[in-house]
This record gives sequence, C-alpha cells and structure tokens, in this order.
Amino acid sequence: MHVTAIIAAAGAGRRLGATTPKQLIDIGGGTMLQHSVKAFAAHPRISEIVVVLPDGQAPSGLTFDTGPSIRIVTGGDRRQDSVARGFDAVSPDSDVVLVHDAARPFVTAALIDKTIDAAARHGAAIAALASKDTIKRVDGGVIVDTIPRESVYLAQTPQGFRRDVLAATVALGRSGVEATDEAALAERAGYHVHVVDGDSGNVKITTEDDLRAARARMGAATQRIGTGYDLHRLVEGRPLVIGGVTIPFDKGPLGHSDGDVACHAATDAILGAACLGDIGRHFPDSDTRWKNADSIGLLAEAARLVREAGYDVSNLDLTVILERPKVKDAVPEMRTRIAGALGVGADRVSVKGKTNEGVDAIGRGEAIAAHAVALLQQVRPAR
Ligand code: MG
Repeated sequence: MHVTAIIAAAGAGRRLGATTPKQLIDIGGGTMLQHSVKAFAAHPRISEIVVVLPDGQAPSGLTFDTGPSIRIVTGGDRRQDSVARGFDAVSPDSDVVLVHDAARPFVTAALIDKTIDAAARHGAAIAALASKDTIKRVDGGVIVDTIPRESVYLAQTPQGFRRDVLAATVALGRSGVEATDEAALAERAGYHVHVVDGDSGNVKITTEDDLRAARARMGAATQRIGTGYDLHRLVEGRPLVIGGVTIPFDKGPLGHSDGDVACHAATDAILGAACLGDIGRHFPDSDTRWKNADSIGLLAEAARLVREAGYDVSNLDLTVILERPKVKDAVPEMRTRIAGALGVGADRVSVKGKTNEGVDAIGRGEAIAAHAVALLQQVRPAR
C-alpha cells in the first residue's frame, strides 16, 4: 500500500510569535514542523511526504538520511486551499493520503497506523478524542442545550482518506464549499467519515500555555548525559593547575598541556554527552597548537562545539582526587573559571575534592585524577 502524508504548515498562525508562523517555532530539538515531519518520515508505512509551506518560506531541517521522499509545495490562503495544493503533488500511485497539522508535533506511530488502516478500510477516517467534559451550547451567555457527552468527539489529525475520496473532497472545496478540516468536506461530499481513538498527547499547539507545555515535554526527551575521567602523573617542577586555577605546591601534573585533570575530564564529559568523540580527537598531542595549552581554553572550545551541535550545558559535577594539597579553598575560583569556559553560571558547576586515603599511586601522591558528569539540554537542531 502506497501511503502519502500531507503536512499542512502553511497557516499564518502568528498568535504565538509576532513574526514567525507558529509551526516554525522551536519547541526544543526542532520546530513543530520538523517534529511532525520526522514522525511521518520515521514511519515504515509512509511512502512519501508533501509539506505545504507558507509562500516564501524556505524548508529547513526537513531532510533525513533515510525514509520517504519529501516534496515541498507552497500553500494557499485558507487551510483547504493549502491541502488542495498539497494533494496536487501527491503521487498517482498513492492508495491512502493522510492530512496532518504541523502544529501537532507529538503524533505517535500507533495513531498513524490506526488512521491508515481505518482510511483504507472505510474510505475516510480521522483521529478524534472522546469528550471528557459535558458540552453546552451557549447563546448570549446562556446555555440553550446540553449535548450528550457520548456523541461528542474532538477532531484531531491525522485525517486519512483513500485517494479517490480525497480527490472528490478537494474538488468540492474548489467548487466554493468552505470547511475547517478535510473531514467536514468529505462529510459534505456524502462520505461516511469514521473515527479512530485519538490520543490525548496529540495536542495542537495554539496558546502560550500549549507552547510552554510542549517545550517542557521536549525538554525531558532532549537531555543527554556524559562522563569523563582523567589522570596525570605528578612530578616536581610543574605548576599544579586544577580547574584553571594554579595552586602553590612543589609538584604538578606531567603532560603535553598543563595537565589540568578537572578541565580534561569536563571536556570529555560534555563531548561524550553530545556524541562528539573525546579530547584526544579534537586536541591531539601530535598537534603543536595544543602544546602547553591552557586547558581551560580547550574546555571553552569543546563547549563551543557542543553549542554548535545544538546543546547547552545544564550542569557539570566534578570530583578531583589527590592526596595533597587540600583544594577546598580554590574550589570557588575553579567553579567560576570552569563555568566561564562553559558559558554558564557558576551555580551549574560543582567541584569536590577527595583524597585516596593513602592507597595506590594517587594515595602516594604520584598522581592526580578527576571524574566528571555533564548533563546537556538540546536547545536547537544541530547547525
Ligand atoms: Mg589529561
């Protein structure tokens, strides 16, 4: 079965932003449109996608390595005009066509499946949610009718149609009949439009509250965690640099750079969380640019790469292990310097000092080590 998805994204919908149509607003990890397209692009039963964009809007972030072909068309004045133009771009091979609002970015694979099956069986079927609330018809502030709750459903998308049914529906719309969704046109054209159980999570993002809730929901799905570890030998005659702070002591870490274990562990933690490799890949020993490099600068460069990949650092927690000297007094300055390199507030960076209780090389004062854990938050798609 050849299934096409038309993603309707041509609406002006500027209620949520003065200049940007709402479906092009970022909700974390991409715009509503990008998330909606991705849901269909990742679905194994979707053969092609037609995205209907506002006039003059360039498609961005709508290409994927695998999956169905994606065609972009320009929409019309009303939603029905836009869907009609989208329909003109649908392959003649298509058996079932789904129409979906870009402003419903949380559509699930299961709901897409159910809609395809019901549309193929019945000719027309839409996702709709049974009303939990009693519905009143109101006139001039006074209730004039109470509608039995059992008979009320709230229409969602996707709305699915056999190709011939949507062709007749689009033709009716072009003949001058107006409707706010394709199901209404199909009803007017005389088809029985069936209902499949919608999904309460498949919300349409319309208000500022919807937008906040969507971002919170995406936030939980777009956090990434990474760990880092580093160890250097301690030798005489080297400065002891930890977290960008030089602490008076007779030994310091041996290394190609300043041997700052806190910065090195932190660098690996943020690179690891973003799946960007490790410190050795970005700042190899073989590259003379990093000889005696200031590791706080390497951390700042790693943070820049992580931001470029679309992430902000939510927090970083470091444990520095060395037998002597005590680092407690230098901790506030370490936090400030590391936070500065990461481009975040010092309240997001924790540094703890520990000894190794005299055990092993660290305990004998022959080495210093650090462990780091970083949490990243995806705030935009990778550039
Ligand atoms: Mg190192």
